[in-house]
Amino acid sequence: LARLRRRLAGSNNALARGLADLLARDRLDEDTWDDFEATLISSDLGVGPTTELVTTLRRELSIDGVNDSGQAATVLRRELVKIVDPTMDRSLDLTGRDGKPAVVMVVGVNGTGKTTTVGKLARVLVAENKSVLLGAADTFRAAAAEQLSTWGERVGVETVRGEEGADPASVAYRAVEKGIADGVDVVLIDTAGRLHTKTGLMDELGKVKRVVEKIAPVGEVLLVLDATTGQNGLVQARIFRDVVDVTGLVLTKLDGSAKGGIVVQVQRELGVPVKLIGLGEGVDDLAPFEAEGFVTGLMG
Ligand code: GDP
Repeated sequence: LARLRRRLAGSNNALARGLADLLARDRLDEDTWDDFEATLISSDLGVGPTTELVTTLRRELSIDGVNDSGQAATVLRRELVKIVDPTMDRSLDLTGRDGKPAVVMVVGVNGTGKTTTVGKLARVLVAENKSVLLGAADTFRAAAAEQLSTWGERVGVETVRGEEGADPASVAYRAVEKGIADGVDVVLIDTAGRLHTKTGLMDELGKVKRVVEKIAPVGEVLLVLDATTGQNGLVQARIFRDVVDVTGLVLTKLDGSAKGGIVVQVQRELGVPVKLIGLGEGVDDLAPFEAEGFVTGLMG
């Protein structure tokens, strides 16, 4: 939590800055609310959540327009936690069925941080004494499998790879097959994210999941979104939702120039919780997402 706070504070986070600005005002007048509303919208929070938040704050804080900052901060924190939604189940389903490994598919557009997330997640699981196997089902680019293997070596887990151009589903199948034979706890499958055509993507990801499920259920399909791409992340989220059953979101690069509010928008749009967040390129820069901690990080 301390690290999250530091990272969010150090980032150029528009939402965090907007909140600090509101709390620093002496008077809560029309101009203040207009500015605040504009800040929230430009921080990717979305129009619906912004309107709700501003309406509630105005209603509760309208005591002669004076900003009693203690009360403003309390109400703001409470309302923000509410819109980030502390009631969503953000745990990862890592219980393998019938003595088989838990299977996690990681999907998303190339460059969003999929491979890095798989590497970091493997690290977290290894630290919890779980045995892990990686499957390099992005067979389109040789560099992708190479990068995944490098992560595997770094965190001390094996990677199942195919030839460049091999069928992604067959590589994923072999990884899970080996996971079953070796009795590992979790198989993490990295996939390709070329958005050349929606049908192509649908066929490929659908097939990977179908083929794997011939031998073991896929417990999680995690969609990785780059938080710095803002509204574009939302567009990607809609496309992936249509092609595969997403069970959780991973928002990467929240340490960078991300605006923060996108967390709320994608969750609402997909009705699926943000489960993990990426806070850097390092091996330990992955954190479980949690509403109170995130709001504390934003508000300092
Ligand atoms: P993929 O193509 O989706 O597999 O994306 P990669 O895992 O190769 O990541 C693309 C780039 O984003 C790499 O340079 C990563 O180091 C970087 N990256 C991934 N996650 C994070 C993060 O949480 N924060 C930052 N700052 N960079 C990240």
